[in-house]
Amino acid sequence: MKDVKEILSKMSLEDKIALCEGKNFWETMPFEQYGVPSIFMCDGPHGLRKQEMENATDMLGINNSRPATCFPTAVTTASSWNKELLQEIGKAIADEAKDQGVSMVLGPGVNIKRNPLCGRNFEYFSEDPCLAGKLAAAYITGMEGEGIATSLKHFAANSQEHCRFVSDGIMDERTLREIYLPAFETAVKEGRPSTVMCSYPKLNGVHLSDNKRLLTDILRDEWGFSGMVVTDWGAMCDRIEGFKAGCDLNMPGGSKYMEKEAAQAVREGILSEEDVDKCAERVLRLVFHALEGEKGEGSCDYADHHVLAKKAAMDGAVLLKNERDLLPLREDARIAVFGHMAKELRYQGAGSSHINVTKLSQPIDFLPKAIYEECVDVHGDTTDDMIERAVKAAKEAEICIVFAGLPDRYESEGFDRSDMKMPEGHLRLIEAVAKANENTAVVLLAGAPVECPWAESVKAILYMGLPGQAGGEAAADLLYGRTNPSGKLAESWPFKYADCVSSAYYGKDHDALYLEGIYVGYRYYDRSLKAVRWPFGYGLSYTDFEYSNLDVTGNTVTVSVTNKGKTAGSEVVQLYIWAPQDGLHRPLKELKSFEKVFLGAGETRSLNFDLADRDFAIWQGGWKVPGGIYRISVGALFADVEKEGEPVDIPSWQKGSFYEDPSKKPCLEEFEKMIGRKYSAPVLKKGSFTLENTVAELKDYSLIMKIMYKAVESVIAKAFGGKKDYDDPAFRMMMESSAGSPLRSLMVSGGMQGGVIPGMLEIANGHFFKGIARMIKG
Ligand code: BGC
Repeated sequence: MKDVKEILSKMSLEDKIALCEGKNFWETMPFEQYGVPSIFMCDGPHGLRKQEMENATDMLGINNSRPATCFPTAVTTASSWNKELLQEIGKAIADEAKDQGVSMVLGPGVNIKRNPLCGRNFEYFSEDPCLAGKLAAAYITGMEGEGIATSLKHFAANSQEHCRFVSDGIMDERTLREIYLPAFETAVKEGRPSTVMCSYPKLNGVHLSDNKRLLTDILRDEWGFSGMVVTDWGAMCDRIEGFKAGCDLNMPGGSKYMEKEAAQAVREGILSEEDVDKCAERVLRLVFHALEGEKGEGSCDYADHHVLAKKAAMDGAVLLKNERDLLPLREDARIAVFGHMAKELRYQGAGSSHINVTKLSQPIDFLPKAIYEECVDVHGDTTDDMIERAVKAAKEAEICIVFAGLPDRYESEGFDRSDMKMPEGHLRLIEAVAKANENTAVVLLAGAPVECPWAESVKAILYMGLPGQAGGEAAADLLYGRTNPSGKLAESWPFKYADCVSSAYYGKDHDALYLEGIYVGYRYYDRSLKAVRWPFGYGLSYTDFEYSNLDVTGNTVTVSVTNKGKTAGSEVVQLYIWAPQDGLHRPLKELKSFEKVFLGAGETRSLNFDLADRDFAIWQGGWKVPGGIYRISVGALFADVEKEGEPVDIPSWQKGSFYEDPSKKPCLEEFEKMIGRKYSAPVLKKGSFTLENTVAELKDYSLIMKIMYKAVESVIAKAFGGKKDYDDPAFRMMMESSAGSPLRSLMVSGGMQGGVIPGMLEIANGHFFKGIARMIKG
């Protein structure tokens, strides 16, 4: 590694500030005079999205990129619960990165799935921090082991797309520590990523880019992170505060006005040069570390990676139902296959993670003996004629397989879903086929849970998430039992959206109020006794497993697992801790460890789990283990262990509240007592608009912003053949990312420079002449 301190000592203040900003969308700033080259980075997380330089200005996956292997998205790999698999995928993507001259991959994403409607859930692992953290750590280890830098994102508490650039996430410290931070903590401590990406929104009033408590006090001082922090693209709020907070690299660059402000602040003594130096030093360290990685041996076999993508798709598939062993299919069974997705698989989500595949396998090509009837179109619509044809084909077949789920336009970065429903056409098709033939199976393709009112009508359900480019052939192998499904759900599947604890308020307002506190996912369903369609950790197999000999001695747990069936298969062994329920409110059970084991027919394996005291702890001004009897469960076996522990306060606001009894509804009043302050929603008022407001917000208050909104809409529509097509996820995403992002973001990277935006803001605030002057002055 070069002597970065020496390089730094030669750099001018302006150059150091400029180094902390991208050269363009994907590269760091080079400085030949100091011997500092630039490095190339790209998305992530389930494959590479390397845009060639001439069209490299898009963070939304709209322009094309170089072909790369599209591995299953995180929703599918998480359901594998397989750490080795994630490590292999990390390594394979690193190989492709070396092959394509990429030094840093923007992923993995470990945000907690707080609510099924989040448009980006497919990119995240789980509702559970233990599962998300361990899988992310494995992925990072695989990639960093090859010398390619990872970027753990989006730090932190970024669980919705609605108002993602400007919303404020309000939550209590315990919820932050127990739910929204631990996956990052595990990934940082065990995976050791080279970089962490700070997210767009605010957390308790402070943008993450300016958040010293998160970026320095917790990330670096508490967790020992020694790498670089990079902003999400356009997330830098205030460059001066950013430097102070330890936000090192501002991407995608082009924020000249911010550079000027920072330099001026140093000259005026508002910002210390030492803070700038610290950030610049970390950028330099990353650049030189990444260059060392690039020098490593690269062997990249895209055909092999397709095989790995298939293995991952199979490993992450969850068999949700299999009445009377409808599956696996006999090789000679007369099958009929239905649905547009059987010939055009839904295999990845839209947005920055969108990959241009090297190869794509369609299910129907791997089910050659099947009769095929499409019967729904690409949007999920159907007609009476189509349904009639489906019924006729279903009656003639022995077994029917319907491919259904969520078409592309339903799930995307940039916006959240508005409900949990599948398209009407898919529902009609499933019901019609199932009525015509009782031997009906559904292959479900969706990046997040959907309502399945038809689940009782069919005999088998295989959920594949968004299974990547080899999903088609993986589906065929699973259906025919050439491989045994072993995935388990990484999130709870409620019967209906209204059953979700946050359904009444999630994504409805400007700010994200985490009223439900720690009761997310199964932590809520368990304590509220609300039944779910399929619980977290659930999944069937073509074989049966039996657990025996559970023993807990101190913090060591041992258990044996036997494959009782005639088919080889893998089992996910899940260890939960059940805390005593006699003090500070706590979830009923929490996942604390897991292991996936492959067992031949009749084989038994004994497993060891080493727990830490932290696994028993809650957050109350620090990690504390409340004393009492804790139950450990593995499979259906239970064992007790006593913890001496320490006293923990029971705050008065707990009494009678939702937090004590989650079968009630969360409410603002109790939440305010928990966070210890009143919450006021932001109010939009002429005269008080700032660069933090968006054109979309201001258009209803100001003519100039309305004109601007219309102009943005028309410019974007031009790229879509003149159509303002809000049904097209790409169009919606573009609108959200321009009209929905703060005015300050429109002033960077090729946006409106100079005084145009500040001038418009003055006019919106009622100062017409001042605004015009500002525009002219620049
Ligand atoms: C996304 C990030 C992504 C970045 C670069 C942002 O809009 O939130 O996840 O890495 O763009 O494409």
